[in-house]
Amino acid sequence: MTPRLRLSPEAVGTGMTSQRVRDRLVERLREAGIGDERVLNAVRVVPRHLFIDEALASRAYEDTALPIGHGQTISQPWVVARMTEAVLQVGPKTVLEVGTGSGYQAAILAALGLEVFTVERIGDLLRLARKRLRQLGMNVRSRHDDGRIGWAEHGPYDGIVVTAAAPALVDALIEQLAVGGRLVAPVGGPGGQALLQLTRGADGGIVQEELAPVSFVPLLSGLLD
Ligand code: SAH
Repeated sequence: MTPRLRLSPEAVGTGMTSQRVRDRLVERLREAGIGDERVLNAVRVVPRHLFIDEALASRAYEDTALPIGHGQTISQPWVVARMTEAVLQVGPKTVLEVGTGSGYQAAILAALGLEVFTVERIGDLLRLARKRLRQLGMNVRSRHDDGRIGWAEHGPYDGIVVTAAAPALVDALIEQLAVGGRLVAPVGGPGGQALLQLTRGADGGIVQEELAPVSFVPLLSGLLD
């Protein structure tokens, strides 16, 4: 499960993006309850500073969400790690992500050897994410679309990771979850959101659990160039 990344000098990083600074983030995540070594290793090797604007690169390894333009954010590393850990527990092969954003969550999933499909509604963000993923040699399949309809063609998926919040769970996405699969999604409104985990059992039934309070940008309809 060793990630195969194309590590240019830029991806290796220096100063505030150095391995030492990244290792500090990993220790922080460990202290905050992330226990899956595979996930911690993926956070260690994926250069988060390449998924944000250069002006913010010095903050890339803080455990915080950061702006990526168009009113969107790259998720907080702890949240990315927690969602990834939840999905990994079911031993997935394929994962669908809704909300590509910067491409960072997709990169973490791909570094874990998963077959990743991701959907983004903002064309500008998607183009940039694709470029970064390609430069790192990561094989992620992506689509410019409203992710609330999922990506039926490649489903059902063992894992589904929704990275934008809706007032309620989206039925079309639950339908694209394989037997034994797991979906994680933030659900709620301005008053507060919870990260929910849905697992589809062998009998097709769904078990729902609440993982943590979270704060995501909203899941919106319609496409933007
Ligand atoms: N996973 C991203 C987080 C980005 S923030 C990362 O690692 O950087 C959430 C993203 O979801 C935004 O880019 C937003 O444009 C996108 N989004 C919101 N509603 C969407 C929808 N209906 N379909 C697809 N993407 C959506």
